[in-house]
Amino acid sequence: MKLTNLAIVFSVLSIATFVIIDAKVNNLCAQEKMKIEYNRRIDNAIDDGIYELVELDNNRKISLNKENAVNMLMNSLYSNFNVLGQKVLEEKLGLYIPIITVIDRDGFYIYHIDVVEKNGERVLERHWTDKIPYSYEKDNLIYRFTLDQYVYLYDKTTNVRSKGLYTDLKSQYPNSILSEDTTFEHIRRRTIINQIEDYMREYINQHNHIAQNFGITYEFYLPQIEKNDWYRTIDDISMLVLFQGYPYGITGEDFYNRYAFGGARITKSKSYYVEKSRSDGRRYYHKDNCSELQNKDEMYSTKEECAKEGAFPCSKCKP
Ligand SMILES: [Zn+2]
Repeated sequence: MKLTNLAIVFSVLSIATFVIIDAKVNNLCAQEKMKIEYNRRIDNAIDDGIYELVELDNNRKISLNKENAVNMLMNSLYSNFNVLGQKVLEEKLGLYIPIITVIDRDGFYIYHIDVVEKNGERVLERHWTDKIPYSYEKDNLIYRFTLDQYVYLYDKTTNVRSKGLYTDLKSQYPNSILSEDTTFEHIRRRTIINQIEDYMREYINQHNHIAQNFGITYEFYLPQIEKNDWYRTIDDISMLVLFQGYPYGITGEDFYNRYAFGGARITKSKSYYVEKSRSDGRRYYHKDNCSELQNKDEMYSTKEECAKEGAFPCSKCKP
């Protein structure tokens, strides 16, 4: 079977959700139960969203579908909180999610609420920011980092642009931050984290003004995110969801706060490709990097599957 259907795409994605809970809770049993229940509802919603976020095409190239991801996430959340289809309640629940951040390889996006005028009425609308790059400037060089070792460079003095693995660009820019591995790694990570945090803080502040106008007095804030959580997060494409200020508890003075990350990690499972030989007309299966391969249209995950299709092992790449 060809590896093009969604079920198989899912099987190569592993979902890693971890959370920072920052809730003011008493040790009441009922509240504990409620907390666990809320955790479950939110985690489910994030898992649903992240499945929609990452898509793999036939060549296992990753693309993001963030619109689908947030639609799925919000609908799952409405459904888990039993308000699905009730527009007013959906909107109210949505106000407790000030931001959703999608961290892509070469930049990030923040999904936030704006107030817009429509037919003389003020209504809430969710918008994505444009992609915000991980940029850093030093000594006339502008760097654009990625979640891996790839970097984009722009030299302001010469107007020269370069891109590539930083290790390959080192010799070209001997006096830059590329020349020392630990310096590069430190600045890269710090830039990515600071940039995401700064923008999130800004949009959370904006959200505070909006929420106030809609009767929510809770003050939203960016929770402290541990370095290790950040490092794990910026290793992969991920989605960060802040669900904060949701009132619960007997007195109504306790707030349920959760900062949840959903990460998508693409585990490259081994793949084989079947192709008809031009010399003897028989079908052979090859490893991913075989020079005999013309195209990679027919992909299988095991050698047994290839054999079942009547293909023989290639003598060159010896799969
Ligand atoms: Zn081969």
